[in-house]
Amino acid sequence: MVSLVEVYRRWPTKYDCIAHLEAVRWGGLPLCPYCGTDRVSRNRDIKRGLTASRWKCQRCDRSFSVTVGTIFQNSHVDLQRWFLLILLMLNAKKGLSAMQAARDLDMRRPTVWSMMHRVRAALADDGKLLSGIVEMDEAYVGGKRRPANRKDDDEPGRHRPGRFKSLR
Ligand SMILES: [Zn+2]
Repeated sequence: MVSLVEVYRRWPTKYDCIAHLEAVRWGGLPLCPYCGTDRVSRNRDIKRGLTASRWKCQRCDRSFSVTVGTIFQNSHVDLQRWFLLILLMLNAKKGLSAMQAARDLDMRRPTVWSMMHRVRAALADDGKLLSGIVEMDEAYVGGKRRPANRKDDDEPGRHRPGRFKSLR
């Protein structure tokens, strides 16, 4: 199991969280979430240089980040808190109440409650994106895939649902 401290070690900034999600979701081949093309490039902001989180599609001209279409989309909560909550949920042997999680994360209970709802739905649907957070010691090192695991990891439905049984 990953410890909470590990979250801050592995992902000290928001950009580390994003890099991790990009590696897990795209595995080095970013796709536009709107039209599906791989003709995308990182947004270049003249003032800030190369931004770490935004991409631009060259076909449909829309801009996006890796969180589009995931449970993290349109959330004002920072990604580290999201990662922490996911770990709290997975580490809790007897289940985690929204009240407890709200205390641990210093957040409002309704916010945590809706986040937990999204996490459960994502795990039930396809835990692949989130499994990267808990399985990083096995398949992901420093946000990069091990080449030997690459083919298997790319196959859909490889997230071993049994791992998340306690959440259902
Ligand atoms: Zn597009």
